[in-house]
Amino acid sequence: MDKKNTPAVAAANRRKRVARLKKILIAVAVIFLVIPTIVCIFLAIKVDSLQKQVDYLYEAKFGNGVFSADNSLSRYEVSGSEGTLRDTDARSSGSNGKRKVYLTFDDGPSENTEAILEVLAKYNVKATFFVVGKEDEGLKPLYKKIVDSGNSIGLHSYSHKYSVLYKSLEDFEADFHKIQDYVKSITGVKTVLYRFPGGSSNQVSDVDMKDLIRFLKEEGVVYFDWNDATGDASTTKYTVTQLVNNAISGLNKEGDTILLMHDANTKGTTVEALPLIIEKLKAMDVEIVPIDMSTQPIQHISADSVE
Ligand SMILES: [Zn+2]
Repeated sequence: MDKKNTPAVAAANRRKRVARLKKILIAVAVIFLVIPTIVCIFLAIKVDSLQKQVDYLYEAKFGNGVFSADNSLSRYEVSGSEGTLRDTDARSSGSNGKRKVYLTFDDGPSENTEAILEVLAKYNVKATFFVVGKEDEGLKPLYKKIVDSGNSIGLHSYSHKYSVLYKSLEDFEADFHKIQDYVKSITGVKTVLYRFPGGSSNQVSDVDMKDLIRFLKEEGVVYFDWNDATGDASTTKYTVTQLVNNAISGLNKEGDTILLMHDANTKGTTVEALPLIIEKLKAMDVEIVPIDMSTQPIQHISADSVE
């Protein structure tokens, strides 16, 4: 009998073939399943981190001196001449005829909120804080401190993530109710003042901004953009002196000014610039006041243009 064809040898060969086949199958599984899965996870993490950077850069580019550097108020209409609010008389240039300046701080509360409140108290002026949803126990009391100190509180979205917030009208509505309820639960105030992250003229929303404006109008909410900014949205771009100069040179010479600043951990220069800005304003013929429902809003996209 041929040695090669004994049943034992045949069985051994079969086992070898099966083993080889198993190895090939495992290799195929690794190549077509495991590796793509790992690559997908890696890419998902990468996309998330890039999205955050896009959000940050967008805020840095459009949430700052773009509107102050050339004082380009003319690019945007100041709405409200026909009045989306009641009390039209109270909105025109104040009882004493002075131009009004509204100091506004976005993105708080933060580690700098207390310092900002101290400066405001020292100069006996009130500002407006457009807050986001911060859940740190250390920051929570600051919502109430803003209200208790007589400053105005407005909403600036819960998540402040453009990719989430502006994904659909439903996402925006959910986020709006979340921040409105959150602030009310802490402060007892149901505020109807709002500022869109990136402004009403932002170019990142997947939803037509007019749909979001219509929703806010139905909710009885008034949104406020800005016509002046210190430029502090970009962290390191400006020195304290430049922040002050940006704010002052960008003041609306014809009427009221809503000045955009930021209340964030990285914006220490804003805290330093604030006393200088207030001192310069106090030396001018303007009145520093907080935003309320009688304030004539400055809107890059006018609410009146949305039916
Ligand atoms: Zn913001």
